[in-house]
Amino acid sequence: MTGTPDWFREGAEHIWLPYTQMKTAPAPLPAVKTEGVRITLADGRELIDGIASWWAAAHGYNHPHILQAVKSQLETMPHVMFGGLVNEPALKLSTRLAAMLPGDLNRCFIAESGSVSVEVAMKMAAQYYLNRGERRSKFVHFRGGYHGDTLGTMSVCDPDEGMHGHFKGLLKENLLANLPRTEAEAAAFTDFLIANKDDVAAVITEPLVQGAAGMVFHGPETLRWLREACDAADVLLIVDEIFTGFYRTGTQFAITQAGIVPDIVTLSKALSGGVSPLSVAVARDAVFDAFYDDDPLKALMHGPTYMGHALGCAAANASLDLFEREDYGVRVTAISDQLATELAPCRSLPNVKDVRVKGAIGVVQLEDASAIQALRAKFVEVGVWIRPFHDIVYLTPSLTIGADDLSFLTNAIHKVLSI
Ligand SMILES: *Cc1c(COP(=O)(O)O)cnc(C)c1O
Repeated sequence: MTGTPDWFREGAEHIWLPYTQMKTAPAPLPAVKTEGVRITLADGRELIDGIASWWAAAHGYNHPHILQAVKSQLETMPHVMFGGLVNEPALKLSTRLAAMLPGDLNRCFIAESGSVSVEVAMKMAAQYYLNRGERRSKFVHFRGGYHGDTLGTMSVCDPDEGMHGHFKGLLKENLLANLPRTEAEAAAFTDFLIANKDDVAAVITEPLVQGAAGMVFHGPETLRWLREACDAADVLLIVDEIFTGFYRTGTQFAITQAGIVPDIVTLSKALSGGVSPLSVAVARDAVFDAFYDDDPLKALMHGPTYMGHALGCAAANASLDLFEREDYGVRVTAISDQLATELAPCRSLPNVKDVRVKGAIGVVQLEDASAIQALRAKFVEVGVWIRPFHDIVYLTPSLTIGADDLSFLTNAIHKVLSI
């Protein structure tokens, strides 16, 4: 490629890209600058971003309030180990999250990536029972589920999507179920859970949206049924809000819509406003209390080097300031309405199977998805950053996107799918 920077040409020989067949995939694009909802490429082209960096950049890129918080933390103390020492941003963040989350979700374990927070949540659940003298070795997870790419989290992802076949023998065998969508299915699920309770540490689910499965939605009643089933069977409920947390589905958390209190919640992505890797597993008092003991063997043995990262927590606190300053629920309602109105015309395009919207998530599902990856370059050609996958073209824009920019994105989808 000509006109590309040296770092790009040289580094391309040494970098390993995510979810990418390195032999056949088109070259990635060199990004050099971000601002608001715009990404600038090395050749000067500007793309309007429809994904907000896997929906982490909820306030848009380079928000001055977050940048300022990170800069001032950087100058005093970028990070200090969390073993034996604590820092103000991490403790403030914990206090704030405990106040924001419903019920007695009060104990925060702060890690770096979403996958790690799910690993920690799974460990908390398994050891919760161990500390009570019960050995439970399985998790119940759902078809279409996604909770990360590490080996533990892969064992609770959809086996087909996660290519479990590749890793047979390496992944833990867990119990796969279908998400209950009717009262009858909920009753059957409860029976199934009670029958297996002696071996099940937790049920794990994404709330309201299964992202990696292709943005498949379910209603809040499903979450209430899961909570009831877990209560009936005495099994913990882990809700993975890494995608949905911080207004993506319209409310601060997706569980708000169901009115339930899970035993453990995981958060990441928009937590730091897309500025720093950061995640949290938040446990209810009863979970924490099972570890609180004179016996050192009952402690939670986990501690990532960068846990409680001061810079990341400073970014997260600034992100929470922004969520507090303004009603993001109102923003998301406006985005949602606009997505519904402007994506509706896609329904009449030949290859479109479904158009659906939940909160600030807009989805156009295709009938024949064989050319889905080839669409990616076409979106760049029309000046937008939209990355179709599975059988969908989707938008998860920053929650601060203006109406004109959002229209540009929805028009781009209609245009590209009409070609
Ligand atoms: C992104 C995501 C994860 C994994 O987070 P990473 O930071 O990529 O490890 C887990 N669960 C859900 C629901 C996610 O959307």
